[in-house]
Amino acid sequence: MTIYNFSAGPATMPDPVIAQIKQDLPSYNDSGMSVMEISHRSELFEDIIDQAEKDLRELLAIPDNYHVLFFQGGGTLQFTTIPLNLANKYHRIGLLDSGHWAERAGDEAKRVNVKVDVLNSTKADHYTKLPILKDLTQDTYDYVHITTNNTIEGTAYSTVPDTGATELVGDMSSNFLGQQYNIKDFGLIMAGAQKNLGIAGLTLVIVRDDLIGKVKNLPSMLDYQLFAQKNSMFNTPPVFAIYAAGLVLKWLKQQGGVPEMERRNRKKSSLLYDFLDASKLFTAPVQKPDRSLTNVPFVTKDADLDAKLIAEAADVGLLNIKGHRSVGGMRASLYNAMPYEGVEKLVNFLDKFEKNYW
Ligand code: PMP
Repeated sequence: MTIYNFSAGPATMPDPVIAQIKQDLPSYNDSGMSVMEISHRSELFEDIIDQAEKDLRELLAIPDNYHVLFFQGGGTLQFTTIPLNLANKYHRIGLLDSGHWAERAGDEAKRVNVKVDVLNSTKADHYTKLPILKDLTQDTYDYVHITTNNTIEGTAYSTVPDTGATELVGDMSSNFLGQQYNIKDFGLIMAGAQKNLGIAGLTLVIVRDDLIGKVKNLPSMLDYQLFAQKNSMFNTPPVFAIYAAGLVLKWLKQQGGVPEMERRNRKKSSLLYDFLDASKLFTAPVQKPDRSLTNVPFVTKDADLDAKLIAEAADVGLLNIKGHRSVGGMRASLYNAMPYEGVEKLVNFLDKFEKNYW
């Protein structure tokens, strides 16, 4: 039975990447050492990290005046490091509250004594649509924080808010490399790797060079300037996660890059949304223009039936379609590595389920 893993993260990886890891695992590049055993100061690893950065720059057309930094600590640590490094003039940021992860970003900024103004929120609508930015008339924010794709609620900005002279910071964790954005629209982008870029343990930060190095005496592990100076090797980096990300990036290039991924993600998500919209049993709660290409929440409005569906889906190899504990229902994550056939199988299953229980 073919297994399709709809987990929101850690998430499914491309089959050829898993095959390559399997092949490389005992002896990387005929070195007689596993990639898990090589020094981060070795030429073998320097090639891996340099090539990964080069491929990422090519795939996202990252301008030369942006640094690419490889961090640990997940997206959550970036909720701390971003305000510590960037909120250095007004000590105040604007936040578009689009859901759980935006709220978490705000909470962590407050913990490092940064004031957080919620510029708009769609909490009252249960986050079934995106908060838009009303006019930013004052330049009194160090930056505005948005979550480009809301992993739990299933919304995504297809065009980013215009913040004028104020910097825009994007948490791109769940649609990084899956949907096209212009890097220049952002002062900083961050993304955890475990959705579209490989495995947990690695977080990417892309930051414009004039924004960093302004705060003195930050703890070393939280200092973007130090990471930039040391090529992300201030200490031992997550060697295996960077190696895996490198393989995913290579695969992405072979597949046609981000435009092709976005085309596929649109096709996959449309197949599922069209089915859900036509269904009498299922509802996709997010309003159409704001729907995510990568995370599709849906419900039957009957929690017992949801539980039955999730169990029956698992029996036929459709794994991890349970919604986030905060919203319930179901969620299918359709990241880059999810093939169209997986979504077809899911839709066929949902159709059969509806005929049986409706
Ligand atoms: N931001 C978004 C959009 C996320 O989806 C997640 C994790 N699911 C995070 C941040 C937090 O990431 P981590 O668990 O790597 O800290």
